[in-house]
Amino acid sequence: MHLKIPIHTLEIHVANACNLTCESCSHFSNNGHKGVLSLEEFEKWCAPWTGKITPKHFRLLGGEPTINPQLTAMLLRAHELWPNSKICLTTNGFFLDRHPGIYEVLGKIGGELTLTKHDFTPEYDEKYNVFKQAVLAGKAKHNFSLNLEISYKRWSRRHKGEGAGVMPFNDGDPKKAFKKCACRRCHQLFRGKIWKCPPITYINLQKEKFPNISSEWDPYLTYEPLDPSATQMQTLKFFTTRTESICAMCPVSPQRFDKRSPLIPLGELNKANTPAA
Ligand code: SF4
Ligand code: SF4
Repeated sequence: MHLKIPIHTLEIHVANACNLTCESCSHFSNNGHKGVLSLEEFEKWCAPWTGKITPKHFRLLGGEPTINPQLTAMLLRAHELWPNSKICLTTNGFFLDRHPGIYEVLGKIGGELTLTKHDFTPEYDEKYNVFKQAVLAGKAKHNFSLNLEISYKRWSRRHKGEGAGVMPFNDGDPKKAFKKCACRRCHQLFRGKIWKCPPITYINLQKEKFPNISSEWDPYLTYEPLDPSATQMQTLKFFTTRTESICAMCPVSPQRFDKRSPLIPLGELNKANTPAA
């Protein structure tokens, strides 16, 4: 019998779509991707790994996870599958009211909610303040952990362009890029396999939606994620490897920028098609 390998964070997209359009989303979720995970798929993807690894944090996100009608059931199931992990939910909050029992469940499983804020305009604040109050009331009653994350404060580009015109930075210095990487501990569970980080995972959704993306992505599209059939040594090596050659696609000095309002619908953004300063 093997000991389970402890890892920092494992994340899973329970919805690929998002209601916001944050430019340069590291999950490519601002590009109109579709699909929600069913509870059956969720179990099928997780089950082969529960005897092999113990994530300190198992995070349900997307896209926007509250688009998934089975979210509350998934949080409960996640706790059953990984009882020693902190079960976390990251959401922009707009649809939390579609899940009436969610605060109670988060309290019951000792979970953590991260509410991300993606803009600072009065229009955004007006909406945000409504669901923030609901979250604070939920926390007061059910005592789950809460992070209020002001995402736009540290926003930087992870790739250039969007849609079919998306391009990697290809700065060619994987070591430096990894050092500056905000998602270096965010392994992804996707289609039953484990991937190093969000960009290397969800570039596949981008390629499926926009088959003509630049051939500069080709070396990254052949990346091989960790399969559940991997030996314990292979699994250990995967999780302890820091820089990989794929990190060459990322920026060596990511610059913070003010993105356009994430409330602008995708269709209107496409029409404007002008890069932000
Ligand atoms: S809220 Fe913004 S950053 Fe988060 S998944 Fe949606 S588009 Fe990406
Ligand atoms: S490829 Fe490397 S540097 Fe780029 S996001 Fe993934 S882990 Fe970070």
